[in-house]
Amino acid sequence: MHGLMQDRPLIISSLIEHAARFHPRTEIVSRLPEGGTHRTDWAGVRRTACQVANALGALGVKPTERVATLAWNGWRHLAMYFGVSGTGAVLHTVNPRLFPEQIAYIVNHAEDQVLFFDTTFAPLVEKLAPQLRTVKTYVCMSSREHMPSIDVPDLHCWDELVATQSEDYDWPEFDERSASSLCYTSGTTGNPKGVLYSHRSTMLHTLMELAPDTFGVSSRETVMLIVPMFHANGWGTPYAAAMVGAKLVFPGPHLDGKSVYELMRDEKVTFSQGVPTVWMMLFQHLDANPQLDARALGVKRIGIGGAAVSRGMLERFEKQFGAEVTQGWGMTETSPIGVISKLLPKHDNLPEEELVKVKLKQGRGVWGVDLKIVDDEGNKQPWDGEAFGHLRVRGPWIASGYFRGEGGSPIDEEGYFSTGDVATIDTDGFLQLVDRAKDVIKSGGEWISSIDVENAAASHPAVTEAAVIGIVHPKWQERPLLIVVRRAGAEVSADELRSYLAERLAKWWLPEEVVFVDSLPHTATGKLLKTKLREQYKGYVAAKAE
Ligand code: ADP
Repeated sequence: MHGLMQDRPLIISSLIEHAARFHPRTEIVSRLPEGGTHRTDWAGVRRTACQVANALGALGVKPTERVATLAWNGWRHLAMYFGVSGTGAVLHTVNPRLFPEQIAYIVNHAEDQVLFFDTTFAPLVEKLAPQLRTVKTYVCMSSREHMPSIDVPDLHCWDELVATQSEDYDWPEFDERSASSLCYTSGTTGNPKGVLYSHRSTMLHTLMELAPDTFGVSSRETVMLIVPMFHANGWGTPYAAAMVGAKLVFPGPHLDGKSVYELMRDEKVTFSQGVPTVWMMLFQHLDANPQLDARALGVKRIGIGGAAVSRGMLERFEKQFGAEVTQGWGMTETSPIGVISKLLPKHDNLPEEELVKVKLKQGRGVWGVDLKIVDDEGNKQPWDGEAFGHLRVRGPWIASGYFRGEGGSPIDEEGYFSTGDVATIDTDGFLQLVDRAKDVIKSGGEWISSIDVENAAASHPAVTEAAVIGIVHPKWQERPLLIVVRRAGAEVSADELRSYLAERLAKWWLPEEVVFVDSLPHTATGKLLKTKLREQYKGYVAAKAE
């Protein structure tokens, strides 16, 4: 017997209608690629979303067809989140930091019909256009005065194609399981693979993002979204902000420490989300300008994910900003919320050192995401905080496979998705990421977590960033090599670092060698590019160890 409740589909257009009706005057602020600041509100975003939908109609884009963006975080991109998916077409957010060949590959793979781009990417678009087999129309997301003079077929200006359309649109109703957006993983190995979200998965994920025990976004919040909107739907925050009518602040391409600091200050940001790399740039700006008072910014909470939060980062936000850090683990394939770190009542009176250990774990399970850790043979491992295992997840916003079946099925016999991460889970359900399976260092049959060694090294005051990779060792098979970027003006020797680490890590985890470099390579999503480091230090044989 079915229940007798109304079977209304969970679709994305309902978000923008809600935001415009109940929070019409709440501001949406964007720093523009061309310079200057743009201000609109949720009513304005709805009008633009309707114009986007009408423009797609005029171009003949049909439901299920893909519409690509090469764009920074900003109001036009936000309107496209609702305007494209709302028509039943699929928004493909392309990561402009991928290599040009990868961008051509994914646009062709997705069979994008229209490509919208910010002026910043005009030279890239001109270079790529001859290789893009399915794109019929190009739209520059700017006014007439900023239109680039590039040679691509059927080029339009946003102001002429979109801004001239009607500001009303009758959103169609359809099956909530229909595809809504498409995002390719950055593919540090092999070709990028497409994760195809649905309206239903997006809406359920959005609800979870609002829960107080996750990111707790509400109408009282001014959210600065630094996480790119081309990275796992900007962690779902554009949708979540619409669902509750939060004020949104977009930095555009201006992600340097100074710009981020000033935008936080000028717009009175209370909550901001970003990967550790961005926060490091903010810290560098504060270091270079000691007269600045980060606490006066009034930022209450910082969401961090995509890479591990170091103790140094946690403590700077807590002590210097007076802000609470909410760490999350997830991936493009998990929409991206997988686990979120929030303390339990039992942690209230924990001594500082114990508390920090809990806070540095990636987080606890949320409703909707089932977790398990398994050994190489697929046997479940205990949740004792000690046993390492391959992390697998299952739930209504977890990918069941990749677009066009690339890479085969990532799902096991119980319906769990293999994340490629190695983790422990403790008795309270807190997950701690040990490593990516391919980054873990195998020393004499035991596993060393590169993340733990990196975090320990990064907690040294003279260290800005640290990477650890395995190097060949004649006896132990692999041993850790520590590669360090020193803080500007700071001094620390390899021996000093090793003694510092000796107080914090098991003896057999200590890196054999320490190398100092000026900078470390990162992936298109801001993570350490370990494949590059491994290539660079290939043949580097541990000399010191016996
Ligand atoms: P990519 O395209 O680079 O794979 P994703 O955003 O999908 O981009 O990356 C997901 C991966 O990032 C996870 O599998 C995990 O290895 C890493 N990651 C995400 N969040 C955290 C975190 N809080 N701590 C450590 N690693 C994380």
